[in-house]
Amino acid sequence: MRDFNEYYQWHVGKKAEFMAEILRKKDYRVSLARTKEEAKSMVLSMIPEGSSIGLGGSQTVIQLGILDELRNDRYQLLDRYAPCYDSREGQHFGILRESLMTDVFITGTNAVTMKGELVNMDCSGSRVAAMAYGPKKVIIVVGVNKLVKDIPAAVDRLYQIAPMNCRKEEHHTPCVETGICTDCNVKQTETIRGRMCNILSVILSAHKFPGRLNVVVVADEMGF
Ligand code: SF4
Repeated sequence: MRDFNEYYQWHVGKKAEFMAEILRKKDYRVSLARTKEEAKSMVLSMIPEGSSIGLGGSQTVIQLGILDELRNDRYQLLDRYAPCYDSREGQHFGILRESLMTDVFITGTNAVTMKGELVNMDCSGSRVAAMAYGPKKVIIVVGVNKLVKDIPAAVDRLYQIAPMNCRKEEHHTPCVETGICTDCNVKQTETIRGRMCNILSVILSAHKFPGRLNVVVVADEMGF
């Protein structure tokens, strides 16, 4: 009997190599990890001791399993995932604002196009703002499931996955029940968590600040 896993491993490996190559052409500092565990070690090796660290809202960051290592005296972690913070309250937004000026910012990305563009959708914009400007070093971890043909395909992907994020973050949008995006117009109020898809960002290249945007490509699926 054929081992289909062999073909899967071959395919994700090739996709990861392709992603690394197109991102290098755009001046990202790229590392290629065969596994999530290798990706985690690579990320940790990129963070100097004593660094202040911000985190993007990212299922990939959670899946990386890096939070325990970052929660110690060697780093100054601005921990948006600390259980004591309610993501609806001011203290949480304070953490997100401070994260814009950290030494290191760790995040995922929603899509990578075949031209090496990074495409993201945010609710508040705090993650895409930090990716674009502010933190001295940005580390972006990305699995091969994020590769798409072009920017329109990336935007399609963002609306496909957004209902999962809406449900996870307990928004009051129709997609939380149906699983399908209807390009809703639900307003934010004190008691209602409205539309999540508010800020669309495209990073075309990393040419401006060489060494600032680092990407760890993982030969596996990561995040939504
Ligand atoms: S636009 Fe509205 S319905 Fe569509 S995914 Fe975003 S929050 Fe859900």
